[in-house]
Amino acid sequence: MTENEKTDFIRQMIADDIATGRHIGPVVTRFPPEPNGFLHIGHAKSICLNFGVAEENNGRTFLRFDDTNPCKESEEYVEAIKHDVRWLGFNWEGSLTHASDYFDQLYDSAIQLINMDKAYVDSLSAEEIRKYRGTLTEVGKDSPYRGRSREENLDLFQRMQAGEFADGEHVLRAKIDMSSPNINLRDPTIYRIRKISHQNTGDKWNIYPMYDFAHGLSDAFEGVTHSLCTLEFEDHRPLYDWFLDQLKPTNRPRQTEFSRLNLAYALTSKRKLTTLVEEGVVDGWDDPRLATLAGMRRRGYPPAAIRDFIARVGVTKKENLIEMGVLENSIRENLNYEAERRMAVMKPLKIVITNYPDEKTETVTAINHPSRPELGTRELPFSRELWIEESDFMEEAPRKFFRLKPGGEVRLRFAYIIRCDDVIKNDSGQIIELHCSYDPETRSGSGSSDRRVKGTIHWVSAQHAHSAEVRLYDRLFTVPQPGSDPDVHKNLNPNSVEVVKAQIEPSLSVQDRSVQFERLGYFSLDIVDHSQELPVFNRIVTLRDSWAKIERQAVMISNQANS
Ligand code: ATP
Ligand code: MG
Repeated sequence: MTENEKTDFIRQMIADDIATGRHIGPVVTRFPPEPNGFLHIGHAKSICLNFGVAEENNGRTFLRFDDTNPCKESEEYVEAIKHDVRWLGFNWEGSLTHASDYFDQLYDSAIQLINMDKAYVDSLSAEEIRKYRGTLTEVGKDSPYRGRSREENLDLFQRMQAGEFADGEHVLRAKIDMSSPNINLRDPTIYRIRKISHQNTGDKWNIYPMYDFAHGLSDAFEGVTHSLCTLEFEDHRPLYDWFLDQLKPTNRPRQTEFSRLNLAYALTSKRKLTTLVEEGVVDGWDDPRLATLAGMRRRGYPPAAIRDFIARVGVTKKENLIEMGVLENSIRENLNYEAERRMAVMKPLKIVITNYPDEKTETVTAINHPSRPELGTRELPFSRELWIEESDFMEEAPRKFFRLKPGGEVRLRFAYIIRCDDVIKNDSGQIIELHCSYDPETRSGSGSSDRRVKGTIHWVSAQHAHSAEVRLYDRLFTVPQPGSDPDVHKNLNPNSVEVVKAQIEPSLSVQDRSVQFERLGYFSLDIVDHSQELPVFNRIVTLRDSWAKIERQAVMISNQANS
């Protein structure tokens, strides 16, 4: 890429506009969520694009609540959206607006259209309007009310607002062209009666503008220069432009469309998310299994990793379905650098080191980050009884199993090499503990013996470890496109979360929001259910290749120790 080439077609277009003088002055964008649900990963794309483009051009971005439909909107959603945008790392600095802030101006614009004979009050029923509209292959038909006089239209429209009519009795429509090949131009409704209170304007209005009318004009009123929206609005652009052509506001915004972000195995329809939340299928909008920003925050996804993911996905006009692995790679890459390492055992199996003194406790030194020595080390207690991972022992092990097996040896990370001497079982034949012996000459970092074994496993000291609840997440759906099935319940994964009682090293404190549990993955303290008595951790993401890594680290550390 040369210096003048931008990363995507929208940034390129804006750069070209500025270079050629087609665009003069600051770049102003907006992110216009409807407060009828929480934001999801798809919205993150729009947020990063709108705020990013403005930031790069020293412009500004409005956070504008599209609150034109008072029946579905609530203050709770407004607050949640603000929280999420801020968390993602963006700031609207005094540019917080609502479509409803412009209701007076929009009303005046509607009157202006009536005065220009470009809008009329229609008294057909919703059903009739639909029938008159025609289809893709069949032109529409004029409403019998299309010829109403200017005076009659003004009178009826004002009385609609005065509350004289019931919902649905009349609507105001733009007078464009009932035979247009673009159905959006077949006299679209611009105002409808809704006799309900509005969260921002109270009982002031009995009529509310339609999205298509409110949106473009709000852009114009606000001084938005580039109105960036998703592809489904491409067919609405002629209407967007028509309103601007008729009303000629001093600022003329330009609409450009890009493709939505679709993430495999994630649901990004607010309507379906609402169903899951309202029916209690998930634990609220911030359920860590959801691809909502609140859910991802609770899960422990770093906002910087989400921004990195969005940048990698890029902005195009092509429809796409992005693999979950792409998002997870961004998360891993971020946490691999950011997160300190700790040890925890998810499914504990007790081992007793029979040749280790009963009363003795010593400490071993553990590094906090394999590639960031500035993060220092910590001391871990080591004693006669330890917990190791149940899966790190096999009684009937295949030849290539390099963890613990009867008669076999393994290194305990940061500590000693041990050998499994005895497998102790209860009456029903279940393994209850392993008796092992350690080689005192093999303490990590002591340099006394350079004896090597193939496997290294993690552990915690049984008497010192703390209990914790750990939630191991899997995908919420069993199919890559859960949104395409009308029944949102059908493809739910019954095993999307497994809760285990883990043992964690004692040095793990509440300050460690996100850590890597060695060999297991990245975990973060749950911000909702956490308590002093029982910390709760969410698994953020697994390690892809934990084995190769741990082996390399083991070699590195013992090389460091021996040099
Ligand atoms: P719904 O889910 O109800 O269809 P919506 O996704 O359009 O609603 P809005 O609140 O209207 O939700 O969206 C705000 C902005 O976010 C819009 O400009 C919209 O284009 C953008 N947006 C929504 N979903 C995505 C997505 N998956 N990818 C990119 N941008 C999106
Ligand atoms: Mg929308």
